[in-house]
Amino acid sequence: MHKTIGILGGMSPESTAEYYLHLTRTYTARHGDHGYPRILVYSVSFQQYVEWMNAGQWDSIVSGLGAGATVLQAAGADVIIIATNTMHIVYEQVQAAVSVPVLSLLDAVGAAITAQGLTTVGLLGTAFTMEQPFYREALARQGITVLVPDAVDRAYVHRVVFEELIAGQVRAESRAGYERIIEGLAARGAGGIILGCTEIPLLIRAEDTGLPLFDTTRIHAEAALDFAVED
Ligand code: GLU
Repeated sequence: MHKTIGILGGMSPESTAEYYLHLTRTYTARHGDHGYPRILVYSVSFQQYVEWMNAGQWDSIVSGLGAGATVLQAAGADVIIIATNTMHIVYEQVQAAVSVPVLSLLDAVGAAITAQGLTTVGLLGTAFTMEQPFYREALARQGITVLVPDAVDRAYVHRVVFEELIAGQVRAESRAGYERIIEGLAARGAGGIILGCTEIPLLIRAEDTGLPLFDTTRIHAEAALDFAVED
C-alpha cells in the first residue's frame, strides 16, 4: 500500500492543480497504471495568507499552516508537502506541528541541482523568496550558490506572479520579460535557473531558454511520489 500524500495547497490554486497532475501523471508514466497514492488537499483561503505575508504576520501564517498540516495528518496523510516555495519560510514550524514528515521543497530542489553537477544557479520567485535568506541559506548548505535579479527585476518577477500567474493569466510579454531576466542571470554566471515559485512553470518552459531549468513544482511533486510509492 502506498503512503498517503497530504498537500498544503491553494497557494495558489493554479499551482496546486499542477501538483495534483504531476503526481498522478508521473505515477502513470512510471508504473503504467492508475494505482496512485491517495492524495489529500488542504486548500487554504489564499487571500488571508497574501495579506499576512504583505503585513509580515508570519506568526499567523505559522498558525494557519500548522492547523492545516494537523488536519491533513488527522485525515490520514503519511507525508505532507507545502505546495509553495515562499511558505518554506515557515517550513520548520509546520514540521513541528505534526509528527509525520513534511518533505522540504528546498531539499528536493537542491538535490536536483546537484544531480546536474551545477553549483551556481539563478533564482526567480516571489520577493520573499528572492530577498529573504531562507532559500539562499538552504541551498548554500547543499553547496549551491544562488544569484537573484536586481531590485527592479525582482519587483517585476514578483508582480507577474501575483497579478497574472496566480490569476491564471499567461502573457507572451511577461514570458519575454522573464527570458530577458534569465539571460541576465546567465551572463552573471548562473548555470541553471530555479523556477522558484510554483506558478512560474506555467509561464516558462524548458524550450523557452537554453539553460537547465529547475521546475520546483514538478521536482517537489516527484519527491513526494518517490517517498509515497512502495516499490
Ligand atoms: N506559489 C508561490 C511560491 O511558490 C507564491 C505564492 C505564495 O506566496 O505562497 O512561492
